[in-house]
Amino acid sequence: MSVQQFWGNRFAKPVAAGFGKAGFRKSLRNYHCSNPPTSFSKPPQVCFTFNPIHMRYLPILFCFFLLQCNPKKEKADVAKLPETVAGADGQQGTEEAPAPAVDAAPEIKKIDFDTSVWEEVVRLAPSIRLDLRYATDNNFVKTKMYDCPRCFLRPDVARAVIAAHKILQKKGLGLKMYDCYRPRPIQWKLWKKVPDPRYVADPRKGSMHNRGMAVDLTIVDSLGKELDMGTDFDFFGREAYHSYAGHSDEVTDNRVLLLETMEEQGFRPTSTEWWHYSYKPKKYELADWLWPCK
Ligand SMILES: [Zn+2]
Repeated sequence: MSVQQFWGNRFAKPVAAGFGKAGFRKSLRNYHCSNPPTSFSKPPQVCFTFNPIHMRYLPILFCFFLLQCNPKKEKADVAKLPETVAGADGQQGTEEAPAPAVDAAPEIKKIDFDTSVWEEVVRLAPSIRLDLRYATDNNFVKTKMYDCPRCFLRPDVARAVIAAHKILQKKGLGLKMYDCYRPRPIQWKLWKKVPDPRYVADPRKGSMHNRGMAVDLTIVDSLGKELDMGTDFDFFGREAYHSYAGHSDEVTDNRVLLLETMEEQGFRPTSTEWWHYSYKPKKYELADWLWPCK
C-alpha cells in the first residue's frame, strides 16, 4: 500500500462527511488528503475530524510512528555506509552521480583498500562483468594465479573504464574484464612459468598491468554474451593482431567499436592483442600490493 493510499483510505471519508457543501473547503481538504506529508512525523491533522469509530486505528498508528522514529534503526543505516562513496564520475562526497543506464544500485560494502591509491571497478559500476582468468585455471598457463577475483585499477584509470562502459551501455552493451591490476608478485609467478618476454613482461621491468594502468577486456551484449572478436583472450597468434585482415566484417566492427570506445577515454591499444588497453595520461609506479580476499 502506498503512503497516499494509507492516509487517503483512513481520512478521506470522515473529512468529506464533516464539511458538507462548503466547496472551497472541500477543495482544500482534497488537496491535503491527496497530498499526504512525506514524513510520518507530521500526520495530516487538517484532514482529520474526530469520529469515535476511528479510535480503533490509534494503537496501529501509534506502533507505526514508534517504528518510524526508532533512533537505533537510523544509526544502523548510517553505520552501513562506506567511509567514502564516490560517484561513478569519481567525485567524492554527497553529490549524486548520474544514474547509469542499466546499472543496479551499487552494493555498499566495507571498503578494505586505500581509495586514494586504488579503486575497485565493480564498486562504482556493478554492471561491469568480470571473468578474471588469472583467478582461474582458464588461462594460457593453465594455473590459478590470483587467490581471488577482484579487479583493481588506479582511480583515474577505473573512472575511464567506467566511462567507456557507460558509452557502451547506451548501445545495449557493456564491458567484461579479463585482467586489471596485476601485482608484481603475481608477475613473478607468471614469469617463472613462462620466462619469455614475447608473452609475459619481465617483472624487473614490469608492465602497465603492474602499475594498475592496463586492462584486458572485451564487449558483451545485454545478456553478458561476448561479442565475436575473432579469437579468445590470450590467443597468441596473428589472428589476435589489430592488423589481421582475415576476419569477418562483424569481428572487425566489434574490434573497432572496442578500439574507438577505449581511445575516446584515453586508452591506447597494443598491436598484437585486441583485448589489451593501456591508459596514457599519467604514469604510476610499479606496485606489489596484494588485495585482500573476502
Ligand atoms: Zn594486458
